Parts: sequence; C-alpha cells; structure tokens
Amino acid sequence: MLRCIYCDKKESEVTFNGREHVIPRLMGTFEVDLTLKNLVCDYCNSKIFSPLETRFKEDTEEGIYYQMFNLQNSCQIRIRANNVKTTFSSGLGDDFFNEMFPFFKQHDNNWRIFLLPQIKVKRYGDNGYFVFLIDELKKLNYKKFSKIKKLLKGVQSKDVSIFTGGNSDIDDGPLQEAIDLLKKLGIDYKEGKRKFLPIDKTSPRKQFEISMDCTVNKDAARVITKIAFNYFSLAAIQENRSDILFHPNFSKIKAYILGELDLPVNQVIIELGSEPIILEEKIYDHRFIGHTIVFYEMKGNLVSKISFLGKRIYTVLLGPISNEFKRDDFGCGHIFNPIDKTIHQLTQNPKKFGSDLPMSFGLYKRL
Ligand SMILES: [Zn+2]
Repeated sequence: MLRCIYCDKKESEVTFNGREHVIPRLMGTFEVDLTLKNLVCDYCNSKIFSPLETRFKEDTEEGIYYQMFNLQNSCQIRIRANNVKTTFSSGLGDDFFNEMFPFFKQHDNNWRIFLLPQIKVKRYGDNGYFVFLIDELKKLNYKKFSKIKKLLKGVQSKDVSIFTGGNSDIDDGPLQEAIDLLKKLGIDYKEGKRKFLPIDKTSPRKQFEISMDCTVNKDAARVITKIAFNYFSLAAIQENRSDILFHPNFSKIKAYILGELDLPVNQVIIELGSEPIILEEKIYDHRFIGHTIVFYEMKGNLVSKISFLGKRIYTVLLGPISNEFKRDDFGCGHIFNPIDKTIHQLTQNPKKFGSDLPMSFGLYKRL
C-alpha cells in the first residue's frame, strides 16, 4: 500500500505517477537516479512542491543565485522580484550595465562571473523580468522557439534591452543578430540608446558585485528543509526502513514543508554558517564546489547540514528521533558535483580518506 511521506495520504486517495527529485533539477542532475518513487503523491508533487520550487527559483536569493549558475543550460532566466530585489554592480561605470544579469562559469577550478550576450525583457509579472541567452536561443528547435514567441506576445520594444559583444564599436553583427532573433520572436525592436563599454585597458575594471541578503525567507527554508528530508528518506529506503518516515516525530516538519504550518525560520534552519562540513575542507582550507548533504543525530534530534556549491551551510532541524538511532554510526553524507555529475561518499574517518568508498545511501553510513 503506497503512502505519501509528506501528506500521509494513501494510494486509495491519491495517485503516485510522478517522481520527487531529492535535489531540485535547478541545482543539477547527477549520474545516479536521485528520485523518490512511489513515496510522494502527485498532489504534493505538482500542486504544492512545483509552485513552491518556482517561487524559490524566481523570487528567493538562493534561487536566483542558482539561476546564475544555469546548470541546466537553460535559454531563459526568470526573476519575479516581488520579495527579493537583487542589485548587481557591474563596475563598468554606467547604470545601464548594472541591468545585465551575471552568470557564473567554472574557470581554473573556481567560479567566475561572466556577462553573456543576452536579451532582457521587462515584462514578467508586476516587477519581474526575463533574460534570454542569445547563444542558447539560437540552438532552440522550432517547438521550443514557438513557445517563447507565445510567451512574449505583446511585448513592446521599449521593454527590451539587448546586451551583446562585438570586436569593435563599428562591429554590430552580434547586435543585428539579436534584433533578427527578436523579429522572429514577434518583437519589432527599435533601437533606443546605444552604450559601449569603456575600452580602457590601462585601468583594471572594478569587480562585479552581487548584493545578496543574509536572511533566508520562508520559501527558501521550505525547499532546503524538503531536500534534507528527501535525502533522509533516500537513506531510510535503502535501509528498508521507510516506516520511520511516517513517525509522528516528523509531522511538524512535514507540515512546515507542505506550507500548512508556519514556523519562524530560525526554528527550522537553526544555524547558518560557513564552518565546512567536511574535514578535508577544513584541512585544506578550501571549499569544494558541490552540494554537500549530511544527516546525523544531535541531542536526540535528527539534524541535517546542507551546503550548495561550496557556499553557506544550513543546519536543518528535522525532529526528534528515537533511541534506536542513537548509534555512533547513524548518519550519512554525500557530496554532489553538479559539473561532472558525480556523487561521492563522505566519511568522518581520516583513515578512510582517499579510499574511494563505494557510493551508497543508508542510515548507518557515518563511518
Ligand atoms: Zn502527498
């Protein structure tokens, strides 16, 4: 008898056709299938989590941040800008360039900011905008291109800005190409002001700055908490202990994830820090570019630590756990690399470093 780990409804009441991604696809896809099958009902999946993840992506600091990494090579970025205002300072000396959406690309084992050729359309909701990557737009097939054309129906030229590169001020080939693309999308672009980047090779450009809030909003907290519980569920299933997922101890956190219960964010994300999760990161004083997820027992509670792309670390409180799990080896930890799509097992035992432990999930993997 199938039963939803979130809403507790059974097969007789709800359907189970979809799959729940343990880590939202916005954060990458991996070589191993990281989905929960027959555990999250279609109602929770499509009616609750799907809109939640869209709001997370388009209107939270974290979500917008992952759009900058564009791990899925999407041709479009969507920013709602109802709750979150991001400020970009390009350091290029003109407010016009601060309107550009910055992207992170991997360079020399580090993330660097790149300004990619893009078309910005200010017509998404009340305050939001779309950013289309010109190079990705060009790759679209007819069907996908038509979908975007439909989306942009009625957009006026005044709502559109084009940012392109060129070899010199007189080379407007890339700009013409963008105008042609817009024409194909049904927008008759009439050029307003044209601005050029200052070409002064003697003075180094100021750094690109992205201003981000340090607080976590409710939607972001719900998504991060859901990832923590999904990951724990994956481990419990591997151990053939899906029964514990239905324990009343987790009722509160599930109600929070479902949006049925309001809790102050700091009661769910009990710590926001930068202290590395992995011993190797501490030893080498270098954060890994990847997502790290661990869970363990702390003072009778099930706690998860999560960090995305080597950035800040969220400590999530999932709920009390019974005595049977108070064991030294209770816990599990993995690092997910969204670039090469690999997953690696984590260990806290220095003797096991570099031993390339076989990748597996379970409840007693804290070695
Ligand atoms: Zn459900």
